[in-house]
Amino acid sequence: MRILIANDDGIDSPGILRLAESVSDLGEVTVVAPHRERSTAGHSLTLHKPLRLWEIKPRYFAVTGTPADCIYMGVHEVLKGKPDFILSGVNAGANLGTDVHYSGTVAAAREGALLNIPSYAFSLVSLGDKRPLQFEMAARLARKVFLETHKATFPRHTLLNVNIPNLPEKEILGFEITRQGFRFYANDVSRREDPRGRDYYWIGGPYKGYEPGPGTDCDSVQSGKIAVTPLTIDCTHNEFYTTLKSSRYVTDTF
Ligand code: MN
Repeated sequence: MRILIANDDGIDSPGILRLAESVSDLGEVTVVAPHRERSTAGHSLTLHKPLRLWEIKPRYFAVTGTPADCIYMGVHEVLKGKPDFILSGVNAGANLGTDVHYSGTVAAAREGALLNIPSYAFSLVSLGDKRPLQFEMAARLARKVFLETHKATFPRHTLLNVNIPNLPEKEILGFEITRQGFRFYANDVSRREDPRGRDYYWIGGPYKGYEPGPGTDCDSVQSGKIAVTPLTIDCTHNEFYTTLKSSRYVTDTF
């Protein structure tokens, strides 16, 4: 089995190192990851400037690009062919609900899904306490979820988004297949003045909670379960599509 591993926290982050170790006995594991943190990079590709790639140690490659770049380079340059699986993470922090649109961790798995490679995104979710993130535990559970699900037939363009609560292992109540929920953040903009008298800004506010709904990834993690959400690439809203399609908005005589 050939496994390609990426992340968005960077090649030196504990999550990716623990994840690579936890699956090392399952086959040939290759790590291709950003040389520095690229969290919230989303699914961007670096098309307008050069990338550098270097081997840090055997089968661990750093790339000066985004998480999606790493999958692109990993498949087409390092492996020169598709691996059997792509694993992304383990991310330091949640990728629940709407986070998936900003997440570099999920984007790396989505880049794999675009190539029809069965792909996973793993994230470790702090439940608002001060407990340090338990990456070793998360990587062990990521391996378990992988072994339980990897024989499933992944339909075209799909990935599994896995969120693991950062609880003591004995308090984690197994895993649950979930759907994408909705998280809220404060929309903060802080304006500051730089030493030369010009304004600069920091955007992004703290997490403010989630829309409750049974069966969502947010609910599942909050209740101490590992949330496994199948995601796909086609973002069409089918109901809205049908309404618009059959409505007076449809016109070719504009
Ligand atoms: Mn991250």
